[in-house]
Amino acid sequence: MALIVQKYGGTSVGNPERIKNVAARVAQYRERGDRLVVVVSAMSGVTDNLIKLARAIMPLPSEREMDMLLATGEQTTIALTAMALHALGIPAESLTGAQAGIVTDGVHTKAKIQNITPKKVHALLDGGHVVIVAGFQGQTAEGQITTLGRGGSDLTAIALAAALKADLCQIYTDVDGVFTADPRIVPDARKLDEIAYDELLELAGTGAKVMQLRSVEFAKKFGVIFEVRSSLNDNPGTIVKEETKSMEDVVIRGVSLDKNQAKITIIGLSDRPGMAARVFTALADAAVNVDMIIQNISHGSGAPTTDLSFTVDKSELLKAQKVIEGLKKELGYKQVIANESIGKLSIVGVGMRSHSGVAARMFETLAREGINIDMISTSEIKISVVIEIAKAETAMRAVHAAFLG
Ligand code: ASP
Ligand code: MG
Repeated sequence: MALIVQKYGGTSVGNPERIKNVAARVAQYRERGDRLVVVVSAMSGVTDNLIKLARAIMPLPSEREMDMLLATGEQTTIALTAMALHALGIPAESLTGAQAGIVTDGVHTKAKIQNITPKKVHALLDGGHVVIVAGFQGQTAEGQITTLGRGGSDLTAIALAAALKADLCQIYTDVDGVFTADPRIVPDARKLDEIAYDELLELAGTGAKVMQLRSVEFAKKFGVIFEVRSSLNDNPGTIVKEETKSMEDVVIRGVSLDKNQAKITIIGLSDRPGMAARVFTALADAAVNVDMIIQNISHGSGAPTTDLSFTVDKSELLKAQKVIEGLKKELGYKQVIANESIGKLSIVGVGMRSHSGVAARMFETLAREGINIDMISTSEIKISVVIEIAKAETAMRAVHAAFLG
């Protein structure tokens, strides 16, 4: 008799039929004698629509009110899922994040889980219930509703699996597992049987929409082995776990493309100590996540200046621009330019540690396609380039063919 945490994403609960399918699958596991905690996302499109609604009211709504709004998406799904189980004669009860004992810090719209006291979850399980938990949300110690950042239901599931010491954690989605690339862009992409936490972290951090980044970090930290699999069939998925020796034999595990970044360039920033510190401290204070950074020497007469470029999430572009504009008087730069037409293409694999010439092969492939590289960044197991968005998908197919074809 295993304790299983299952998480169903937005498309897996996207309509009443799908929700009934989730209930049927839960019923199957229950018949085997397993105890189940089911974490659900908002129905697909719901969170996006709520965000649109908010933006129709004002461009930069209060983040506390955003959390109040967005938490309703998952609250709808937990109730419907519990009802679908009741319809099958299965005792089930839904819990909000707060009721499930998920306590977070107070950083609205991307709160961090501080601790979980799943007393109610245990009590319901002991009473023979299936427990349905709203993903993506928690509550501060002061009782404010918070959300965990987009895709945060994954984190709810992984964190609950850790807190409950679950025997198994399954992340159900609309694809068969983690692929070498997004099959919608790269038709040759293949499903992986296994992947290391670090590889999935890099892929998730570079645009592959398999899982929320923080949930994978959390799983790595607490050693939660989980499976990513489809809710639409019974195929085995991809197991995500600590790296093993044999994983290094493969040079590249996957290719990802992030079209959700924007580039900000500060032109004519005076070239003296402390300037970069000032810019990035101000961004950090506003809780803007900066990804790639590049600094160029400006040519011109007079005091030396530089151009500083960095990328942020498109959703944080407005906020980042506001922060930088607020520094104009103090820093006295010339101009700020924002560019939303960029794509960040990355290759990822623990095999990079033991194979050489990987970057050269990637750049040659792009050169052959006539694609200009705008920014480059690397880590031990990843190489990323920023390129023009119009050519990004072509570039992705070419790079996938070069390494994984
Ligand atoms: N509903 C939230 C979102 O769309 C959380 C999730 O789906 O995991 O980001
Ligand atoms: Mg989702």
